[in-house]
Amino acid sequence: MVAVTTGTGYKPLAATVARTSMRRNQTSRVTSPASSYADTTSGALSTPNTTEPEASGSERRSKLAPGLHLVATPIGNLADLSPRALAVLRDADLVICEDTRVTVKLLRHYGIERPLTAYHEHNAARVRPQILARLADGAAVALASDAGTPLVSDPGYKLVRAAIEAGTELFAVPGPSAALAALTVSGLPTDRFLVGGFLPPRGAARRRAIAELDAIPATLVLFEAARRLPKTLAELAAVWGSRQAAVARELTKRFEEVRRAPLDALAAYYDAAGSPRGEVVIVIAPPASDTEQASDAEIDAMLSEALATMTPAAAAAKVAAMSGRPKRAIYRRALALKKKPPAESDP
Ligand code: SAM
Repeated sequence: MVAVTTGTGYKPLAATVARTSMRRNQTSRVTSPASSYADTTSGALSTPNTTEPEASGSERRSKLAPGLHLVATPIGNLADLSPRALAVLRDADLVICEDTRVTVKLLRHYGIERPLTAYHEHNAARVRPQILARLADGAAVALASDAGTPLVSDPGYKLVRAAIEAGTELFAVPGPSAALAALTVSGLPTDRFLVGGFLPPRGAARRRAIAELDAIPATLVLFEAARRLPKTLAELAAVWGSRQAAVARELTKRFEEVRRAPLDALAAYYDAAGSPRGEVVIVIAPPASDTEQASDAEIDAMLSEALATMTPAAAAAKVAAMSGRPKRAIYRRALALKKKPPAESDP
């Protein structure tokens, strides 16, 4: 059975951050004629990591400490921007983001007007030295991604490395992340987890990545594009069909839903339903621990009993679900058992 919960539990307070199809290579300045930069924050927000305002004559008007501020932004519900993130975005000399058109919407929503620079995989090598030069000049630079926490399957790692090497101060401005949000609503173990990012799209690299994850004794959190969800679930179910899992979709947004079920049931559901809309994260329970796993002899006994009335595939599915072992391996065992001649009875 696939258990589903839906809804954010409250009315969305704000529009969602939408990706658009425009080009994403420009450095642009946010214009927000109706907004008052000072009024939206009303001076009440505390901004740790701040310094005294610079001496007059400087172009910089920021109270923010010089350095690179890594700012998490909402994964859908704009009300999830923290007061501190808001203050940092408001006070930064420069905001770097993946797609200026996406971040512009966030800043406009809060009446913030700051210079924006696009930083993404296609321009990073060119733009990084310019950002580092600004940092070396003592600028307070905020790095945000389209949604969630920068650097988590998003740009910024090389910039952070280079900034550290250059002796730049780094500040975390934590907040939303789809990975953690999905993990916490999945109902799966949270004591140890691995954020596996996106699987390689296809081929040997994808199979290798899945094989590498096979024995990881931790809950797995995978990003995936919604249109690829049915195919990915089918591939994962072929390896770990009986593992409990969850698909967390459109978190913090109007059509938020979480489906919790064994991977093979989720795969069957999305095979029938087709690709969902929106954004999804797949969360998969860790493998059953060795002590919890049935021995080979126990597996054979369960299989023999099941094979008396079932096809090898059905018997394998049943025993995989009972034992927590991968269905594929159990199926191979079922076929071998089926071929084996029955043991001779005692003379
Ligand atoms: N850095 C981001 C973070 O910390 O959330 C993740 C960036 S990754 C490029 C984008 C992926 O996050 C999407 O493909 C989807 O898997 C997931 N995602 C983003 N927003 C989501 C949401 N509201 N609900 C479910 N998954 C989401």
